[in-house]
Amino acid sequence: MNRIVILGAGYAGLAAATSLAGRTRRRSDVRITVVNADERFTERLRLHQTASGQRLADLRIPDLLAGTGVEFVRGWVTGVDAAARRVRIDDERVLEYDRLVYALGAVADTAAVPGVDENAYTLDSAHDADLLARRLAGLGGGTVVVCGSGLTGVECAAEIAERHPGLDVVLVGRQEPGATMTPGARAHLRRALARLGVRVVSGVEVVKVLPESVELAGGDSVPADVVLWTSGVRVPPLAAAAGLAVDERGRIVTDPTLRSVSHPQVYAIGDAAAVRQRYGVMHGTCQSGMPTGVHAALSIARELDGRQPRPFRFGYLHAPVSLGRRDAVIQFTHPDDSPKRLYLTGRAAVWYKETVSSSGWPSFRRLQRYPAVGSFAWRRGGRYTR
Ligand SMILES: Cc1cc2nc3c(=O)[nH]c(=O)nc-3n(C[C@H](O)[C@H](O)[C@H](O)COP(=O)(O)OP(=O)(O)OC[C@H]3O[C@@H](n4cnc5c(N)ncnc54)[C@H](O)[C@@H]3O)c2cc1C
Repeated sequence: MNRIVILGAGYAGLAAATSLAGRTRRRSDVRITVVNADERFTERLRLHQTASGQRLADLRIPDLLAGTGVEFVRGWVTGVDAAARRVRIDDERVLEYDRLVYALGAVADTAAVPGVDENAYTLDSAHDADLLARRLAGLGGGTVVVCGSGLTGVECAAEIAERHPGLDVVLVGRQEPGATMTPGARAHLRRALARLGVRVVSGVEVVKVLPESVELAGGDSVPADVVLWTSGVRVPPLAAAAGLAVDERGRIVTDPTLRSVSHPQVYAIGDAAAVRQRYGVMHGTCQSGMPTGVHAALSIARELDGRQPRPFRFGYLHAPVSLGRRDAVIQFTHPDDSPKRLYLTGRAAVWYKETVSSSGWPSFRRLQRYPAVGSFAWRRGGRYTR
């Protein structure tokens, strides 16, 4: 029996599980187990919606996997023994594997600045987003400071400002919001934030988060009733503690086929993996995470057939950014994620963003039924990755 254990049932883990189930359905010598903290699928792309008080669909992982032969284990992974090929769950149960797919994602980098752990909210899980939603609902007025002016920070600030017009929302960060976009897209984004009443403080460095303010380098501070931290990502220390080779952010370093460079029986995918392409190490997105899951499944299926896995190639397509529920901006990109001239705004962009955000769950079902289709479903990057 080939025991394949997939850790994490987010976008990457479920793409791997459903593709692999589809690819191995005629084999009786494969056992696939998926481990995840929760039975409910976390639509991480939409956590800013949860944080601002919106209810999301109740998507259940055991329902998705019913009838596929994949076993679902609900529990918290507390350790991986990569030498003995064992995984510990809730410090109680042990699962043995022949191949491991590591897809436990990443979290906000709360260690970068003092006071974040104690005084700021994050959007690392549905539970975190719920806590923030409750706090915002209970505030009669006051100031919410969103730290991090990257695209996640922009989405969060816009969503909170739209849903809570009685709150002052301040977006604080190093870069100008939309810095990676073309001037036209960036100008649209700035106008949308201004219309929603979001105050932007960019070109600054947050050095400390206190219970009632955010301190900036140079001595200024921004008063805050609530702080949301969206700046930077890191991978929890589980992978490093297992002895897997990791980079400076704790991501598992992979070879071109997505196997760990130190432990080739471990595939690393999604935000937890440091995957190098010709243009650099990919940054974590759902856009790239799902293809890594599909590719890992394809590689494992090839290995089971006695064939060599192939190199993974990926090129970015777009950066879709919601600006509340009634506006959005979609920046189309070159495969290396640099912006193209083309961008969408307004209603067309809202429709596009919603189509992208809701595509994950139906894709998992399709991958399971038609696994071959999954292999064609992303951009390979042409000369950018060759
Ligand atoms: C607000 C927000 C907006 C975003 N918008 C976009 C966007 O528009 N486009 C885009 O491409 N990307 C976006 N992203 C990034 C995207 O969500 C991530 O890149 C994507 O979720 C990564 O997928 P993953 O499967 O690697 O990790 P995840 O989706 O985070 O899945 C990891 C899974 O592992 C589980 N887990 C973690 N640790 C353990 C443990 N120890 N034991 C058991 N289970 C565990 C988690 O519960 C989770 O189910 C956004 C992120 C945020 C926070």
